[in-house]
Amino acid sequence: MSDAELVLRSTRVITPEGTRPASVAVADGKIAAVLPYDADVPSGVRLEDLGDDVLLPGLVDTHVHVNDPGRTEWEGFWTATRAAAAGGITTLVDMPLNSLPPTTTVDHLRTKQEVAADKAHIDVGFWGGALPDNVKDLRPLHESGVFGFKAFLSPSGVDEFPHLDQDGLARSLAEIASFDGLLIVHAEDPHHLEAAPQQPGPRYADFLASRPRDAEDTAIAQLIAQAKRLNARVHVLHLSSSDALPLIARAKADGVRVTVETCPHYLTLTAEEVPDGASEFKCCPPIRESANQDLLWQALADGTVDCVVTDHSPSTADLKTDDFATAWGGISGLQLSLAAVWTEARRRGHSLEDVVRWMSARTAELVGLDARKGAIEAGRDADFAVLAPDETFTVDPAALQHRNRVTAYAGKTLYGVVKSTWLRGERIVADGEFTAPKGRLLTRTP
Ligand SMILES: [Zn+2]
Repeated sequence: MSDAELVLRSTRVITPEGTRPASVAVADGKIAAVLPYDADVPSGVRLEDLGDDVLLPGLVDTHVHVNDPGRTEWEGFWTATRAAAAGGITTLVDMPLNSLPPTTTVDHLRTKQEVAADKAHIDVGFWGGALPDNVKDLRPLHESGVFGFKAFLSPSGVDEFPHLDQDGLARSLAEIASFDGLLIVHAEDPHHLEAAPQQPGPRYADFLASRPRDAEDTAIAQLIAQAKRLNARVHVLHLSSSDALPLIARAKADGVRVTVETCPHYLTLTAEEVPDGASEFKCCPPIRESANQDLLWQALADGTVDCVVTDHSPSTADLKTDDFATAWGGISGLQLSLAAVWTEARRRGHSLEDVVRWMSARTAELVGLDARKGAIEAGRDADFAVLAPDETFTVDPAALQHRNRVTAYAGKTLYGVVKSTWLRGERIVADGEFTAPKGRLLTRTP
């Protein structure tokens, strides 16, 4: 305690061993110790008494599209990291596509890092991209510190990021397995998508029919088969189809190295409630029926699904037309993800500890940051969110920090007000007031 510069005290501190009253001592930006609630605080050490507000580890969001540089009118590091900080997120990992250039070579990674450096309000890491023609770039990118590689198995939505066919997947995955890297996959099978009825227009039911569950199920089955053959590490991005859960559970039981994420919108919004023409609800794979959502929650509870990430993927408002077939697909969830997931988790009888496990501990593990992030315990970075879990607020798009204030959550009343967010022992946002950017660029730790 004597070398601590700061102590955060709360009656409810979420630690890996459970929630308890505690005093968390911080030194040099790291958690020095988790002490009894009434531990003596020497004079000269700053004490922040949080009362009954919950102190939880800052969230680690491993699926964010920042789009900077190149499509900064969609989003940028300044706005995205402010939105994240306001929502209790202290680390994000940026997706390799929708920026120009995409993160598919070491040069491109350097460009992205330079752009992000001065704008990051929270810590930022990068995924690389696996394209049909960049197999030779994968190892250099890995050695330059990307956390893994993203691939699409169906068209990505942008021309500069083509998808892998099954041969391409086999080639990229074999290369990635050779250095025991991680491949993260948008798993929808293009043949099933082509075979599905394509009916343009404003009806959500038509859009849902155009992205059927079997497109996901087939692509996931193929991915699992490849991972098993190569003993490679793979991660299924944004799972929506609950029909794929049995085959994922079986693969995990068989020892296949597969992990799975889902997203706040699949867990909290349903196809039944999407108004026709409301393309702020459009994402791929799509938001499905409420019965599907029940099964996703069950899979989170039993561990078949590992974690929850935002897949924050904004665009300018003009691309969100009322034609679901052509509108940009992507939901902006950074600032609201904790509150949205907590609101539904709470209703379903899950604890805030569960939410922290899904949105902080497990995501930190996914990218190998679990020695530094994802828990309140000695030795980890002093990254925190302070949450009033029983307070509610109504979502006002004007209060959102991301660049284009399009949201699928407008008007919803959510539980969980983020009072402040802390990065390495510094309060970076409180009551909508931000400090200057203090985020660092993160690289994979070998
Ligand atoms: Zn995404």
